[in-house]
Amino acid sequence: MIISDIIKKQRDYFHSGETKDWKLRRDLLKKLKSEILDHEEDIYQALYSDFQKPKVESYLSEFGIVISEINLAIKNIKKWSRVRRIWPSLLNFPSRDYIHYEPYGTVLIISPWNYPFQLAIAPIIMAIAAGNTVVLKPSELTPATSKLVETILTNVFNEQHVATVQGSVEVATELLSKQWDYIFFTGSVPVGKIVAKAAAQHLTPVTLELGGKSPCIIDDSVDIRLVVRRLVWGKFLNAGQTCIAPDYLIVNTKIKEELIQALIKKIERVYGENPELSEDFARVINSKNLKRLKGMLENEQILYGGIVNEETNYLSPTLVDEPSLDSALMGDEIFGPILPILGYDKEEDIEKIILNFSKPLSFYVFSKRKTFANNLIRKYSFGGGTINDTLIHFGNHRLPFGGVGDSGMGAYHGKLGFETFSHKKAIIRKANWLDLPVRYAPYKGKLKPLKQFFKWFA
Ligand code: NAD
Repeated sequence: MIISDIIKKQRDYFHSGETKDWKLRRDLLKKLKSEILDHEEDIYQALYSDFQKPKVESYLSEFGIVISEINLAIKNIKKWSRVRRIWPSLLNFPSRDYIHYEPYGTVLIISPWNYPFQLAIAPIIMAIAAGNTVVLKPSELTPATSKLVETILTNVFNEQHVATVQGSVEVATELLSKQWDYIFFTGSVPVGKIVAKAAAQHLTPVTLELGGKSPCIIDDSVDIRLVVRRLVWGKFLNAGQTCIAPDYLIVNTKIKEELIQALIKKIERVYGENPELSEDFARVINSKNLKRLKGMLENEQILYGGIVNEETNYLSPTLVDEPSLDSALMGDEIFGPILPILGYDKEEDIEKIILNFSKPLSFYVFSKRKTFANNLIRKYSFGGGTINDTLIHFGNHRLPFGGVGDSGMGAYHGKLGFETFSHKKAIIRKANWLDLPVRYAPYKGKLKPLKQFFKWFA
């Protein structure tokens, strides 16, 4: 179907007011949940066929997250949709004040390939919970999962409520040329800028969930065994193709060598001596990205790994020693199974590295010294982070998930997702039994009592 026809259909449906009924939305979310549960195995298979994603990782980072988000929405949709009474201002006395959560209307969601199920469905859950209609453009790089996402959505929703438009850049460009009531984009920084520019043409509000170079700082007070366990998991999950993966390490030189040896041992314990044979290690998404990653390794000092199989888009878990900050490896988000390791002696060295990059999406510190960790967390600006672990701040739906500066704008997850897709309408119902004359003209002699009024009540 032609894109403008879909938009017209969705706008007409939105204006019919049907999506304002929270019970209808709850019932559709229940139907969506049961459809997803029915397709559980298909989802794992699609993800495996797209980039050999291990089943446990697919459960943990895609299926499980989506199910918990949908359960939360079903449980709370009535409460979240309620008109919220707000404490009134005495300046307006007597009044009753409210916030109405109003759906924006017709929303465009563009999703990436790296968590192609979760990052398409999770925003849809909250957009629908809030009462919007949705057009989704999933990633063209994960055809099996994107097709399955479309099938699931088509089985639950009419096109006037949720429609999937498959395609690559040309289709995305056409979608962005249209007027939307909200755009929710997850993807890279350069494309984020294109989306923001297109949204600005129509003054459309946007959420941009982007990426960046997320640092991980490790001081010499840590338990190295525990650090490498959490680090190998967080870095090599999804073969390092995670927006919040630790991009590079900044390690106290006193423990650097010991940490490297422990990392190698851990990688071999987890994936075996030849990770290509492991069922637990995903592939790079395509040959273009494999080439990009291979290019990043040129002229670098590879401490471990660096093994490539171009036929299967395989790159083994790789450790690189002290790349220059001007190198290709440090110039851009890595988004693959390569972990650069930089040493520091003094805390000023950390600053010199981190301030070299724009505000990252995530930030990790491993340290037993509370003050050291807290100082770093306060000092730098980033989307979100974890002390003494990796990735897990993503897993609490009560925490906002989003970037700042180059890593994005806006946030979602849980109730915040519902709020992201809602306009908060401020309403005051003024009572009629009292109408103080002080604010009305003629103003002569009213400034003094007004000032007094503000002093008491504002
Ligand atoms: P991408 O920006 O290349 O593509 C994302 C989506 O945008 C896809 O659907 C794609 O078809 C579309 N697109 C591509 N070029 C476009 C253009 N010129 N105009 C309009 N749309 C276009 O990103 P990707 O490679 O799919 O994903 C990797 C990036 O996404 C990484 O930078 C990663 O950090 C980021 N990411 C961020 C989050 C987050 O939650 N913040 C999550 C996952 C991935």
